[in-house]
Amino acid sequence: MEEVPVKPLHISENARRVLEARYLRRDARGRIAESPEDLFARVARAVAGAELRFGGPGAAARWEGRFRRLMTGGYFLPNSPTLMNAGTALGQLSACFVLPVPDTMEGIFGAVRDMALVQRTGGGTGFSFSRLRPAGDLVASTGGAASGPVSFMKIFDCATENIRQGGKRRGANMGVLRVDHPDVLAFVRAKLDGVSLQNFNLSVGVTDAFMEAAAAGRTYPLVHPRTGERVGRLDAAEVLAAMAEAAWACGDPGLLFLDAVARANPVPELGPIEATNPCGEVPLLPYESCNLGSLNLARLVRGDGTGARLDRRRLRRLAAEAVRFLDDVIEVCRYPLQPLAEAAAATRKIGLGVMGFAEMLVRMGISYDSDEAVAVAGDVARELAEAALAASRELARERGPYPAWRRGGPAGDVPVRNATRTAIAPTGTLGIIAGTSAGIEPFFALAYRRRALDGEILTEVNPLFEAAARAHGLDPRRLVEDVRRRGRLSAVPDVPETLRSRFVTALEVPPERHLAVQAAFQRHVDNSVSKTVNLPPAATPADVAAVFRRAWELGLKGITVYRYGSKAGQVLELGAGD
Ligand code: ADP
Repeated sequence: MEEVPVKPLHISENARRVLEARYLRRDARGRIAESPEDLFARVARAVAGAELRFGGPGAAARWEGRFRRLMTGGYFLPNSPTLMNAGTALGQLSACFVLPVPDTMEGIFGAVRDMALVQRTGGGTGFSFSRLRPAGDLVASTGGAASGPVSFMKIFDCATENIRQGGKRRGANMGVLRVDHPDVLAFVRAKLDGVSLQNFNLSVGVTDAFMEAAAAGRTYPLVHPRTGERVGRLDAAEVLAAMAEAAWACGDPGLLFLDAVARANPVPELGPIEATNPCGEVPLLPYESCNLGSLNLARLVRGDGTGARLDRRRLRRLAAEAVRFLDDVIEVCRYPLQPLAEAAAATRKIGLGVMGFAEMLVRMGISYDSDEAVAVAGDVARELAEAALAASRELARERGPYPAWRRGGPAGDVPVRNATRTAIAPTGTLGIIAGTSAGIEPFFALAYRRRALDGEILTEVNPLFEAAARAHGLDPRRLVEDVRRRGRLSAVPDVPETLRSRFVTALEVPPERHLAVQAAFQRHVDNSVSKTVNLPPAATPADVAAVFRRAWELGLKGITVYRYGSKAGQVLELGAGD
């Protein structure tokens, strides 16, 4: 196999700050004790340790070198817990977990405890609260009234508030409730007060039947989770409107399309999938986890401008190496609970994805808001999925398929090492470390303030944009000043159309285009796709409802919208001026 040539990743000022604050190891006196290069070497060595079990010391040394080059070259980064914890005493490397919440006091508080044990290692946790009896329901042992899912979620939220993950970041949760749960409307409105459940993302689990009922103006039944009895009916369109209104006002809830998830479940015999990890890109069974990693598409463009194209061969080769990396992560990860170790061993789910999609388009001279961008998205996703599947099959030949695999199952007749192989993560922090655009999102703005690391404000101007402005004979400093003040290029007069369209930002991209890009990736990705459909401040609740309906029609597994300005203290703020 060819070696990956290493042009080392340029570590920007912002990347350095993030690495120093949270990722680089410290000595007993709290002083930073490694460089970014040391970090990548530590991770490569720890992960390649898995190769000792399969191929011996020679293989381990060889793969250690390859893994290190993947990271130092800026081609690939694993999820944050791997970067933070590989080769340390903690040793927990996964970003995504789902924990069950049974409808008993022992079950609920057991889940709170499990959550705490996962979160202190840096993992994010997702839950379905659909099994909890509704508020006001009878509690047999006391004759009293039950609190209901939303009330119990506040206990999870409060616990998360008080767990700092190794002192590095606060935990993140996903809470899912089925649309036929009697408390669904309380759940939909749970975050509207702007103070409740701030450590949760919310998703309503909706079925095809519900979406059809909403389209046809029909009612649908509410089902008691304990008895299975029908306990009432709601107007589906009104409930969808309530979700849209809440999402319009505060960003939550999103929707989780349960039937689309079920159709893609690689191991339905292990049970139904009811929840996802915090950012939604990985649907998981109870106790399952997933290791994520992302290839940096910005590093995979050959040439410049109109002649530039995606280097497919390199994408495929890097994807194969990354799949091996992520399968090795499962081997060496130290799971904080025994059922987590068992579930990870049974299905061996991994989620290889991409970051830097928007930067790649800019380098190729393609506007994010174009049919060409959607075609490129489909192209990248297909290459990624095919390469990952081929690599996982190769690993199955070498190491055996995942234990829950069976011939003739949904995955077909060819043994595969990993029940799932691809997912598109948000890469919120990885994108900063790699110095590229997050996940498959368009650039949010060309100049903006980023509130990071406990309130610190960082100012960022897109360097690609600065260079392009210069190439157009424009005074970059004046233009950047203008963009800085107005937030986006389309608000600045006298900018050439080519420049404007190439640097189109998230709020200028129409919702249909956001959805089309998400759908193009989802068509090939076997987990889910983390994507936010950004809406301008003037968007209406009806616009949000339309996005929800369209997402379902497109066969997406989930949908999240965000209307600019609807959240106080948002992470990204347009414009860098005052
Ligand atoms: P990163 O860039 O830090 O690797 P992503 O933004 O790609 O992380 O998020 C990937 C997944 O990592 C999320 O879906 C979630 O499961 C987990 N995650 C992200 N941020 C946190 C957090 N603050 N606490 C716990 N888990 C998190």
